[in-house]
Amino acid sequence: MDATDEMAERTRREVRAYEFRTFAVGITLPEGVQEREDELRSELRLKGNETVKTQAARLVASGVVRSTRKRVDKARPDLSVLADFGTGEVSVSSRPAFFYGRYSKPAGVSQRRLLCPECRGGGCQKCGGTGFDRKPSVEEALRRKIGEFTGSERMIFTWLGSEDRESRVFPPGRPFVVEVKSPKKRRIPTRFGARVKRGLVSVSSGRTLPSKPVTLPPFRFLTRIKARAAANITPEGLRELRARFRRAEVTFERPGNRPAFKKVYSVAASAKGKALVIDAELDGGLPVKRFVSGELVSPSVSEVLKTEVGCRTFDICRVKEKGGFRFTEVARNKEKDQVAP
Ligand SMILES: [Zn+2]
Repeated sequence: MDATDEMAERTRREVRAYEFRTFAVGITLPEGVQEREDELRSELRLKGNETVKTQAARLVASGVVRSTRKRVDKARPDLSVLADFGTGEVSVSSRPAFFYGRYSKPAGVSQRRLLCPECRGGGCQKCGGTGFDRKPSVEEALRRKIGEFTGSERMIFTWLGSEDRESRVFPPGRPFVVEVKSPKKRRIPTRFGARVKRGLVSVSSGRTLPSKPVTLPPFRFLTRIKARAAANITPEGLRELRARFRRAEVTFERPGNRPAFKKVYSVAASAKGKALVIDAELDGGLPVKRFVSGELVSPSVSEVLKTEVGCRTFDICRVKEKGGFRFTEVARNKEKDQVAP
């Protein structure tokens, strides 16, 4: 117990690097203390909840409360402190932060960062030891920027669908969620930009999520497709496209998997000779290039026009979520557990 002031002081030093509102203290006792306490308690028939461990934790915590004015929250603390009374070490970890945003991007930027083709992630001279390709990516740009905001380099991204490296994604952009592990700061701006070699990745509609989403919402998206047909396209062909794909269902064969049934909400197209511009609204998860070519997808643009059509590029004009995210409600479950017998 003589060490509690010293450990509280060390804890104060360690937590200074973090922005937080609440914290909790856990204790590791030196070898044998717990056993000797148990012996003593049984020999003297001592009852009550207070143990060496809970008292030490309380004293360290109150030392921190006095100097920082932060609150103790055992159920869902921003910071978890582990004070080891055996070694004298204090370690701190913070609750992961979950952030939702939407990104838009120029052509020539891939969504995910890719492994270095030379070393396949091991780290070599070509990639500067990082193991990742030097080509620009949304992920790399966001990692750098969110790293600056949060003081953490450990992040896990979840994307609501994806597109090609050459696709542009226009505002309001494609939704994503990032889990930031052990952040030093928890605030991320609602909108920000991240420079990449070929322009700017911008994020908007940002908000902090209460916890990890358990399900992602289904979504649909509007895309502008530039395609080329093997034969000249007739006005009848364009009319047929529009009529055939008004709230139509298409089948997407996935080898080794059950086929997926996806909706096509609308298709409008214009043509000049063999060149086609198609505006389509599609269900998330329906691959645009296959919807055009007909490879594994039926009906397709090629099938309806009765000529081979190939997608050259497609841009993402809008992504619409159907419903919101669902979360596990950590705090509420805990309370329920406590009232349950
Ligand atoms: Zn490499």
